[in-house]
Amino acid sequence: MRIQLLPSTFDSQGHATLEQRLTCFLIDECVAVDAGSIALAATSEQREKVRDIIVTHPHMDHIASLPIFIDDLFPTLKRPIRIHATQEVIELLERDIFNWNVYPRFSELQNSYGPVMTYVQIPLGQEFKVAHLTVTAIPVNHIVPTIGLVVTDGRSTVAFSSDTSETDEFWRVVNRVPRIDALLVEASFPNSMANLAEVSRHYTPASLQRDLRKLNHNGLDILAVHIKPAYRQMVIDELEALNIPKLGVMESGRTYEW
Ligand SMILES: [Zn+2]
Ligand SMILES: [Zn+2]
Repeated sequence: MRIQLLPSTFDSQGHATLEQRLTCFLIDECVAVDAGSIALAATSEQREKVRDIIVTHPHMDHIASLPIFIDDLFPTLKRPIRIHATQEVIELLERDIFNWNVYPRFSELQNSYGPVMTYVQIPLGQEFKVAHLTVTAIPVNHIVPTIGLVVTDGRSTVAFSSDTSETDEFWRVVNRVPRIDALLVEASFPNSMANLAEVSRHYTPASLQRDLRKLNHNGLDILAVHIKPAYRQMVIDELEALNIPKLGVMESGRTYEW
């Protein structure tokens, strides 16, 4: 499985930098997990291929350019963009984003080929298919309804925490999977901001360390994502100080393969 965290920040020359302000992972060039930077950073080949988007939760950093992505493709889509989300999240997207005020309700619009966007409801606690992938969604501990994911292509398996603070259910499901190749886990705030991390339901390196003790798998790659740009170096230093084997920071723009 090939996974890329799309860049979301660009320098004055237009080159991508490592700070992560928005979240969008591309899996095998065709399935997106969240859509924060999709319309800004996807290549034209990726734009042609991505037709399935899993939305873990409706926070702006995870959906910022989703409406623009569909808007860009509107006249040329020969099949609809499928938005995979829980029923709660679908209702929030329809109420707050695709509401004719912030953006058109694409789920009711058609181009000359047919519908341009459809919702596919994610079932909790049971596997479902997205393109060639088998996915399990797990509710995590964030301030809006949010899911973490376990994604497999039949050969390798990757877990995504999405945005969360300390939680049990996610680790329980991850432990039940026979083998995990990689864990992409959030680490938003430095330890000195534990209070803000707790009220906004995000990890710090210290709370992530506590939760990683619940993980029974060994030898997997653990890549931190969603580090707040204002505290990036501080969080990276605190993650390094944990001395956890194979724990690193995911680089946006780089394609990882498991
Ligand atoms: Zn969030
Ligand atoms: Zn977020």
